[in-house]
Amino acid sequence: MLISIVAPCFNEEDVIERFHETVQKVAEELLPLGHDMEFVYVDDGSRDRTLLLLKQLAELDARVRYVSFSRNFGKEAALLAGLRHASGDAVIIMDADLQHPPELIHRMVALHEEGHDQVIAKRTRTGDGALRTVTARLYYRLVNRLVDVELVDGVGDFRLLSRRVVDAVLDLTEYNRFSKGLFAWVGFPSTTFEYENAVREHGRSSWTLRGLLNYGMDGLISFNNRPLRAALYLGMGLLLCTGLYTAWIVIAALVNGVDTPGYVTIITAVTAAAGMQMIMLGIIGEYTGRIYYEVKGRPHFLVKATNVEGSPERSTGG
Ligand code: UDP
Ligand code: MG
Repeated sequence: MLISIVAPCFNEEDVIERFHETVQKVAEELLPLGHDMEFVYVDDGSRDRTLLLLKQLAELDARVRYVSFSRNFGKEAALLAGLRHASGDAVIIMDADLQHPPELIHRMVALHEEGHDQVIAKRTRTGDGALRTVTARLYYRLVNRLVDVELVDGVGDFRLLSRRVVDAVLDLTEYNRFSKGLFAWVGFPSTTFEYENAVREHGRSSWTLRGLLNYGMDGLISFNNRPLRAALYLGMGLLLCTGLYTAWIVIAALVNGVDTPGYVTIITAVTAAAGMQMIMLGIIGEYTGRIYYEVKGRPHFLVKATNVEGSPERSTGG
């Protein structure tokens, strides 16, 4: 069996060589079991020596394939490129920063051989800030209420995918990619195991608060139109309340005569309604924006350099 390791790399000059050494060691251990390995490294427009190091690795090790983007297109695009350029019967996706322990590959391959199409490594949140842990927990609780696929906290992109899962994921050509959700959507027999999260040794996480917020929004919006529906119900509920309230005022005025004008209530009602409308507009805008991106059908990434023969020069949406 040929196993592809797919690793997106963005400014990983400090760790990439060590990463390759570690996975090479794993590859040696897997060889007697009848498994070959190839390494697909996607340089996501790094501004440091990552690409240079990848080229060196490729010269030293014929199993190394690299793809380099013309600029930073984001991890999701890098993952997609990695899957496109991987030729293995099974593909293991992992971060290049050594936060995904390569020793676990053995376990993944063993579980795959037992017949699981997706082997998912679930990390504990050791080393994460308390705030990030709590918000993540709340977020997943909310998301699973709303979306159609089940997303699990701690389940990231460290997983093994069988060839048929990879092909299925590659057939999904949407522009706004939320891999976690796409993998869950594809399905097939899956199994999950837990591992202790390693703290990043070098460099720093490229997630900003804003990045995380946007990522969270993608997870919410990408998988159905339930938020849109919720906005509709909210609006209807509000309208009903307003109707009842108006009726109440009219009746009160008829019975008691006109009392002091309810300045405060009017202001409250107006602002509440305006707020509600803004929310609804926002939600509609979210979906429209996504349609806009899909319709444009722009490529997910542009390749600047690669050593993969017959590489799809660029990846178009449809
Ligand atoms: N990454 C990438 N493009 C980006 C940001 C990150 O390819 O724009 C890669 C990065 O090199 C690493 C992985 O995605 O291999 C995870 O990134 P990071 O460690 O910053 O995220 P975290 O581990 O905090 O989720
Ligand atoms: Mg990391």
